[in-house]
Amino acid sequence: MSTISIFDIFKIGIGPSSSHTGGPMAAAFAFSEQIKAYTRQVARVQVTLFGSLAFTGKGHGTDTAIILGLMGYLPATIDPDAVESLLRAVHASKKLALPEVGVIDFDPQSELLFNYETELPRHTNGMRFVASDAAGAALLSEDYYSLGGGFIARGNDPEPSSQSTRAKHEFSNSATLLAAAAAADLSIAELVLRNEQQWRSADEVTRRMDDIWSAMQACIGRGLKTDGVLPGRMAVLRRAAKLRRTLEARVVPMPLDTLDWVNAFAIAVNEENAAGGRVVTSPTNGAAGIIPAVMMYYQRFVPNASQAGIHRFLLTAGAIGILYKVNASISGAEMGCQGEVGVACSMAAAGLVAALGGSNDHVEEAAEIGMEHNLGLTCDPIGGMVQIPCIERNAMGAVKAINAARLAMHGDGTHKVTLDNVIATMRQTGLDMSSSYKETSKGGLAVNVPEC
Ligand code: SF4
Repeated sequence: MSTISIFDIFKIGIGPSSSHTGGPMAAAFAFSEQIKAYTRQVARVQVTLFGSLAFTGKGHGTDTAIILGLMGYLPATIDPDAVESLLRAVHASKKLALPEVGVIDFDPQSELLFNYETELPRHTNGMRFVASDAAGAALLSEDYYSLGGGFIARGNDPEPSSQSTRAKHEFSNSATLLAAAAAADLSIAELVLRNEQQWRSADEVTRRMDDIWSAMQACIGRGLKTDGVLPGRMAVLRRAAKLRRTLEARVVPMPLDTLDWVNAFAIAVNEENAAGGRVVTSPTNGAAGIIPAVMMYYQRFVPNASQAGIHRFLLTAGAIGILYKVNASISGAEMGCQGEVGVACSMAAAGLVAALGGSNDHVEEAAEIGMEHNLGLTCDPIGGMVQIPCIERNAMGAVKAINAARLAMHGDGTHKVTLDNVIATMRQTGLDMSSSYKETSKGGLAVNVPEC
């Protein structure tokens, strides 16, 4: 864990899913890099999706993400507005341009397979890529896994890390994080900042945090302006823009207007995500609205909010995200929605306390409360789309995070349940949870609500 950065947790990408869109696109890109060694030999590429990727891959855009990744695109750099025409061309021509390899025949109907019967051994989000020559002989076959939040791994390889050295202040759980901060007389945000500055210059850390916050604000802004219907059979109406207009038209302010604004911010992000727009994994795409909504709440409604407070928010929320990533999982396919919306709520509660100048103990307690009341939350997206319950659930998660921060800051920091206790509980609950409730759309709302 000592090499995970907050910039591994917060990544700029595209919707609708970090595990089912971003991760598969990155995996397909990695495979496309590998087959460059077989230039002019590759005649066919076939990809099989397993487990949760098979069950909800169509609704989450996994098939399209694989095509784009094979073409050499990555979630962070692809232009969301170009996606539709790129895909239309592949489907119309039944040809795929592989970087440095050449153009091959590729019919998505026959080359993208969904295996509903078996799972690959490491994780339910498994993918098998096979490149063959013109005679049908396999040139290269590799398995990849999408581990949640856009993280990927190949076969049994360790998860790749973007940092090659260990952190300056190491921590493996909440207890050691608090102890390391106390020993160095640092806030959690200051400790994480020193770790980040070990890996990149102070200017780069600041620039990247500002880029993340800018991308989040742009996403909220687009969502608050865009009306219409989201993609998919359910024809879900966007509502963030309408809510914004209602709030802006208020002549007499209402006591809970702030709550309505937080709802609008979160829904705006998740509507953009559902539409395949540019979002920041926070820590996942499905839960991408909670942290930006709470940060926007801080910036817009807290007196004397500052950019320094925004930085403290991101550094602290990132540290909490790392704890979940290392000690449990941020994959809805492994943990249910508690691992996505629950984790985002916990991170946002901690980040808000830090932005408000709370102590490390208050940060830890807020993060604990943020998860404690999301334990057991299932993942049951209707139609396999990241829309219902996901969009509204982010609004609920954001409101809950603000309340968790308030509850923690009204106390003196003493509490019975620790963050480590609740992370362990989330992990055990996720392991015990039936697979029907873990991003397969085989249970819950997904089977009890008609799609149209
Ligand atoms: S229900 Fe939760 S975990 Fe499942 S796709 Fe929606 S946001 Fe992600």
